[in-house]
Amino acid sequence: MTVKYGSAKRMGLVSCRDCHLLSRWPEVRDSQIVCCPRCGSELHRRKRNSLTRTWALLLAAMIFYIPANVLPMMITSAVGSVQADTIMSGVLYFLHSGSWEIGLVIFIASIFIPFMKFIILIYLLISVQFKLVTQPENLTRLYQLTEAVGRWSMLDVYVVSILIALVQLGVLAEISAGPAVLYFALVVVTTMLAAESFDPRLIWDVVEEKDE
Ligand SMILES: [Zn+2]
Repeated sequence: MTVKYGSAKRMGLVSCRDCHLLSRWPEVRDSQIVCCPRCGSELHRRKRNSLTRTWALLLAAMIFYIPANVLPMMITSAVGSVQADTIMSGVLYFLHSGSWEIGLVIFIASIFIPFMKFIILIYLLISVQFKLVTQPENLTRLYQLTEAVGRWSMLDVYVVSILIALVQLGVLAEISAGPAVLYFALVVVTTMLAAESFDPRLIWDVVEEKDE
């Protein structure tokens, strides 16, 4: 595949992340700091250590995903009984009690979407790291998708509050959030940071490199 347009990096240009001024990248040693001639911010041609940082954050998110799903999300105490529910048992509860729509929303927001984000980020990282990029446009679309979904990540947290409110309305029981809520919030935050650390321009760098 040939590249129709050369990247700014290839043309010796760099864009400032803060004021977006495009300037010429000076001839400097790797360790030297280059600053924007207009606003003075430090310039980077690519996000620094993008792959390593994204891998690390993604790995952390995947580790937090386990307690988020295994530990109780919600502890319900009614007269004489205490019940601890994980996300999945909550989903099953709603499916069996006839409110399958609520069960489905919780499943998609809390289990499916985070899992899909893991898969997409792993795919992007492996494609760039091992230079397996064949359809850069599609990879860019996938990255845009994770960013778009990222904006809705906080929905997951709302889902838990809605769930708690619903149960509280339904029965006279005391509801408290379980330890999974904390891990769940950590999954949301670390996944967002992982997506943010990934530099989608690296996808096109692989194509340009092959082209040379
Ligand atoms: Zn600037």
